[in-house]
Amino acid sequence: MPDLRLINANAHTLDPQRPHAQAIAIRDGVIIATGTNAAIESALPGAPALDLGGRTVLPGLIDAHMHMELYALGLQRVEAETDSLDECLRRVAERAQATPRGQWIRGHGWNQTRWAGFPSAADLDAVAPEHPVYLSAKSAHAGWANTAALRLAGIGADTPDPHGGAIQRDAGGRPTGILLETAMTLLESIIPLPAVADLAEAMRAAQATLWRYGNTGVHDFDGKRSLAAWQILRERGELGLRVCKTIRVAYLDHAIGLGLRSGFGDDWIRLGNVKVFMDGALGPRTAHMIEPYLGEPENYGLVVTDPEELYEHASKAAVHGLAMTVHAIGDKAGHDLLNVYERLRLSALPARPLRHRYEHVQILHPADFSRLGQLGVIASMQPIHATSDMLMAEKYWGARNIGAYAWQTQLEAGATLAFGSDAPIEKPNPFEGLHAAVTRRRADGSPGPEGWYGEQRLTVEAALRAYTLGAAYAGYMENKIGALAPGKLADLVVTDRDIFACDPMAIKDTQVVGTMVGGEWRYRHL
Ligand SMILES: [Zn+2]
Repeated sequence: MPDLRLINANAHTLDPQRPHAQAIAIRDGVIIATGTNAAIESALPGAPALDLGGRTVLPGLIDAHMHMELYALGLQRVEAETDSLDECLRRVAERAQATPRGQWIRGHGWNQTRWAGFPSAADLDAVAPEHPVYLSAKSAHAGWANTAALRLAGIGADTPDPHGGAIQRDAGGRPTGILLETAMTLLESIIPLPAVADLAEAMRAAQATLWRYGNTGVHDFDGKRSLAAWQILRERGELGLRVCKTIRVAYLDHAIGLGLRSGFGDDWIRLGNVKVFMDGALGPRTAHMIEPYLGEPENYGLVVTDPEELYEHASKAAVHGLAMTVHAIGDKAGHDLLNVYERLRLSALPARPLRHRYEHVQILHPADFSRLGQLGVIASMQPIHATSDMLMAEKYWGARNIGAYAWQTQLEAGATLAFGSDAPIEKPNPFEGLHAAVTRRRADGSPGPEGWYGEQRLTVEAALRAYTLGAAYAGYMENKIGALAPGKLADLVVTDRDIFACDPMAIKDTQVVGTMVGGEWRYRHL
């Protein structure tokens, strides 16, 4: 790899030694110096220079919470979000042409209220009679199958409706192709998973999309298949993202049996923490709350893993050098989780402090606000959830939202923030996340100039830190990535605007013009 000088840059380095730099010297994929054009010329005399013409350079962005398998496979689906049924069918027909006969075709995003009511199996049969086809609705509460798919799933006139779902039927009792709620499972459960090699191929394609958004690293919360696929990409020399991979709690004993510890790995793939779910989510009102949901006096949400069981997993993991990463949305789930972390700390099991994580930190009771900071627990948050969910949060949580998506409160209390997208729930565009963190406003400007609970707005620098150094720390890589400083890996992005200087509302529209990982341009449009 040839030496390279980036000159005439406007680099925000996040390096306290030199927060702003005009030029960067790169050798063997590593930053060896930052400084003025002249200083970098003498650091690497004669090395080729790329003149950035004053464009802004930031440390590479790291998505600290996403699901790579779901995201990559989702990108391959037929986009069924169309204004007309005909357009959707045209897309399915096109895909059928390019897909070997008999292979599944999947799609997502249709909405019958935008069309003339529900479509039918016959519509799909007309354009793809030789492929099983299944398209999930935008709402995720309905699915649409063709006859070949219904046949493979054994769904016919005699199939009873499952508990909590319905097979839509015509006047003669025959399935129309529309499956509602739990009836979707009858079909989804028979669709074969793609082979790991095919998953690797899907992830390779998705990686290119992630680079375009400016991502140079991800923390992947999917399962063992994506870990295997990441390794396949690396074996082929095609991996160009720094990956931190969580471990499902179902495999805790396997990880211990192999002697794996959190942080094990190299500059490309590291093992992260052990993943457990404490509760559900806000949308379905299953997040576990101290007080009931507004308008539902009986509903406190639900418990997925009770605190005793979590403590058992966590203390066993800790003895073996494995830290936890725990999904907790509701304030009761968060309270119980912090109690577990406190107990762990008091029992002082491991010799080195473990980097435990609290995923989402979506709402906390005021009594718990400062406990992440006190306990050294990483606040892994997804800023875009705040603006996407704010209306739902108003409706179900009301005045409790003073503690919702409260990243400024967490920062002031001394917690390390690590930001991500939760893709494919949200688009893995870190600039949309930075915009939400800094403005607390949606893309359309709502709910107004002060933003939603505007006291939680972060400075651009604090938000950027959470997407870089904070995520790097949570991924055991803070010595290698997260800032532009001598000795760090050359992971950086070049943008079309300076997010520190532009109108904060324009941060979301930032275009990445160059993404470099390990000194190599992975995406370049400059
Ligand atoms: Zn997630």
